[in-house]
Amino acid sequence: MIKVDLHIHTKYSPDANIDPLMLAKYCQKYNILPAITDHNRLKVKMRNAIMGEEIMTKEGEIIGLFLNEGIRPHLSIEETLDRIREQDALVLAPHPFDIMRHSTLKRHDFKMDIIEVFNSRVIFQKFNRRANEFANRNNIIKTASSDAHFLSEVGSSYAYMDEFHSKKEFLQNLSRARLVMRKTPNLNKVRSMIIKWKKRA
Ligand SMILES: [Zn+2]
Repeated sequence: MIKVDLHIHTKYSPDANIDPLMLAKYCQKYNILPAITDHNRLKVKMRNAIMGEEIMTKEGEIIGLFLNEGIRPHLSIEETLDRIREQDALVLAPHPFDIMRHSTLKRHDFKMDIIEVFNSRVIFQKFNRRANEFANRNNIIKTASSDAHFLSEVGSSYAYMDEFHSKKEFLQNLSRARLVMRKTPNLNKVRSMIIKWKKRA
């Protein structure tokens, strides 16, 4: 069994400060398989991690998982999905109903492989619940993830599942996973904003 946290940012995101080497050590220690999903770039290539990207589209953010190459942001949702599929990668809808973020998806009428029904950084739980209801209605594989921007957040939420050897097996095992869901302090979002300002300066 392994803890899979499919939504983690490193210092290569403007609002995060996780060092990839520290992340690797931390994940090894706590038996976590991380997906690295930096904002609009695929920079970190790490062993024992799923390579991904949180891509801003014209209608909100989508995560590509198991990517080989980065995907340009600010395309339409359709074009972004095409580019993810071209790489034979998977589509994850992050915090899909969290209207507190300007970056949240504006529509949900596209094919997603996985939906985040719990995101540790969502402030109001009704937005997570809405994602869970949507997943139930549409029969979409669920996950819970930390959306970590700081090392202390990594693994706050995760899917506890059997190990896998292919993307197909990954999806199968994820669909049977036990989701561990723990909220992280709202103050971390403020810390992220401060980091963003500092990096811009
Ligand atoms: Zn994120």
